[in-house]
Amino acid sequence: MRANSVAGVVKAMGGVARTSELIAASVPAGALAVAVRSGELLRPRQGVYALPETPARLIESLSHRGVLACVSAARDYGLWTLDDGADEPVHTWISPDHHPTRMAIDPDTGAPGCCEIHRGGVIDAPGLRRVSVIDCLRQILACRGPEAFFAALESAMRQRVIDLNSVGRLRAALSLPHRWLVDFARWDADSGLESILRLRLHRVGLVLASQVHIPGVGDVDFVIQDCLILEADGATHEGDSRHKDRVRDAVAMALGFVTLRFDSAMILHDWELVESAVLAAVARDLHRSAAGRSW
Ligand SMILES: [Zn+2]
Ligand SMILES: [Zn+2]
Repeated sequence: MRANSVAGVVKAMGGVARTSELIAASVPAGALAVAVRSGELLRPRQGVYALPETPARLIESLSHRGVLACVSAARDYGLWTLDDGADEPVHTWISPDHHPTRMAIDPDTGAPGCCEIHRGGVIDAPGLRRVSVIDCLRQILACRGPEAFFAALESAMRQRVIDLNSVGRLRAALSLPHRWLVDFARWDADSGLESILRLRLHRVGLVLASQVHIPGVGDVDFVIQDCLILEADGATHEGDSRHKDRVRDAVAMALGFVTLRFDSAMILHDWELVESAVLAAVARDLHRSAAGRSW
């Protein structure tokens, strides 16, 4: 078997494979060694092979006898995280039952090292590249706190990376004070910004109706009570859509609604301003309309 076809088998297995899986797929052990020598494959640790284009972060985790964990696993699942993680070490889970390889290089996990090491128990057996989505979310809650957890959970629900049964298992695995976050999560949150906005305003006692269709205006992110529209604008609200947004706001105003529009920089980095704007609008009764919810 030629080395490039060995790489083809690894690619078909998702880009990372165990020796045992490759042998079971009729790859001769000798061909693996040849593929590594020729650069067709990487061997991040004994018994594991990966394509050369495998992200460096995953190779790093694998080299510890670990898997991607926490926010690094979330990014690998395509979930929304508060930042892109480019500047931080990869979060790696290493089984508490394993002696972690490479820890001799970096024995003090409290020191700034190559990885943020997670060693807690997991509920599901991890895959070769990452922990299960339930464990990923549990780790985010412990490592990054409730908001990052909630945004990642709603992202997983929206993309159906997690199913209803697993949401129930996740809820049962959380400590009591955190279970309400799962109950509060929705399947239709459009972005992590929406998740953060809704969670934070809930904490100051405001109830937001989500994904509301208003005839003549379209679907808006949130409405508070009768007529106060809140929009959380991600990166897609540039260029042409800026104009469309302005038109929407004007149409909404003509119909008796008021729109408050916030972008990601405001929601993530200037929350006090966002909150005071919303609370001031509510204090002035801009969320109430004599016509009520007439749409
Ligand atoms: Zn972490
Ligand atoms: Zn590391």
